[in-house]
Amino acid sequence: TETLVKPAPKDWILGISPYVPGKSATDDGRPLIKLSANENPLGTGAAARAALVAATADLATYPDPGATKLREAIGAVHGLDPARIIYGTGSDELLHIAASAYAGPGDEVLYVRYGFAVYDIAARRVGATPVIAPDKDYATDVDALLAAVTDKTKVVFLANPNNPTGTMTSREEIARLHAGLRPDILFVLDQAYAEYLDADEDDGGLELTKTASNVFVTRTFSKIYGLAAERIGWGYASAEVIDILHRIRAPFNVTTAGQAAAIAAINDSGWVESSRTHNARWREWLAGEIGALSNHGLRVVPSKTNFLLILFDGKLTAEAAMKGLWEEGYATRWLPGQGLPNGLRITIGTKAQTRAVANTLRAMAESV
Ligand code: PMP
Repeated sequence: TETLVKPAPKDWILGISPYVPGKSATDDGRPLIKLSANENPLGTGAAARAALVAATADLATYPDPGATKLREAIGAVHGLDPARIIYGTGSDELLHIAASAYAGPGDEVLYVRYGFAVYDIAARRVGATPVIAPDKDYATDVDALLAAVTDKTKVVFLANPNNPTGTMTSREEIARLHAGLRPDILFVLDQAYAEYLDADEDDGGLELTKTASNVFVTRTFSKIYGLAAERIGWGYASAEVIDILHRIRAPFNVTTAGQAAAIAAINDSGWVESSRTHNARWREWLAGEIGALSNHGLRVVPSKTNFLLILFDGKLTAEAAMKGLWEEGYATRWLPGQGLPNGLRITIGTKAQTRAVANTLRAMAESV
């Protein structure tokens, strides 16, 4: 029965639009091949899969709450101090706890337009105000970001490379941004796609954490490592910041199987390398194919990730392209909710998938 008195959600929670995940089926329920969530189209490496299966032998015991072996493995691969590594239920959890620990009602959380969708939710759920700085042709405009900083700014989020645009902010620009931020602002550098970069394209974020006390770098096992199902992310910052974040991390937030799989995955450099090579090859190929459709109003935003943002400014719209790809069995990500009604984000798939996507887009562009 209705009662007059009900639990009242905080007004800032009412201001949140729920995260919309990439589709895996058409609106009427037909399953689709997912090129909508930037997963590894080659799947999971054999070593990670075997480690995960072996770790399911004991399901009755809680996971290692300190993820000790996982932190040691990450530390060894990246040359980092394991004591300063935190782990999350996906890097999403780490973004949320960073905002929770350093921002609240009355504070501002700053990020660039077309930033990752979770930043808005992470800011609002703690009652902080999201502030969006203008982009520069879909990429980060460091001057605009710095100009948007106020006395109330407590956290700055920047994905590098960025989702959904795929753009990269250079090492010099990251250093300039950091140098321009007050040291009491937490700079969260979200490197979910960093493993897709070549070694010489590193943005210097992890190096910055060695000297700066206000930089928090986040990474994920969901992308190149092919472990999105296991929900494991990690982050690195000063000992002080890590201590604060641990206080609000959920206990036992990464599973036993997830920890085991992640350790195997990060040590399986062959799988990572072949995934990166595959991605770079087919990303450049698809970008070339779309580039050839410029006379039909299609354009690719330059990408350093495992996806392309395609802008549709001709007769073929992004929505029609998404629906046409459904007909061929592919889910892609149309982005009206992120201010990009002319944008379609497509994950680089297998060779066959990528060729099918290009063929479908060309046929549609040429026939509208
Ligand atoms: N940051 C960015 C920029 C992303 O694109 C994603 C995944 N969509 C994440 C963080 C979160 O990934 P996960 O929680 O799976 O680590």
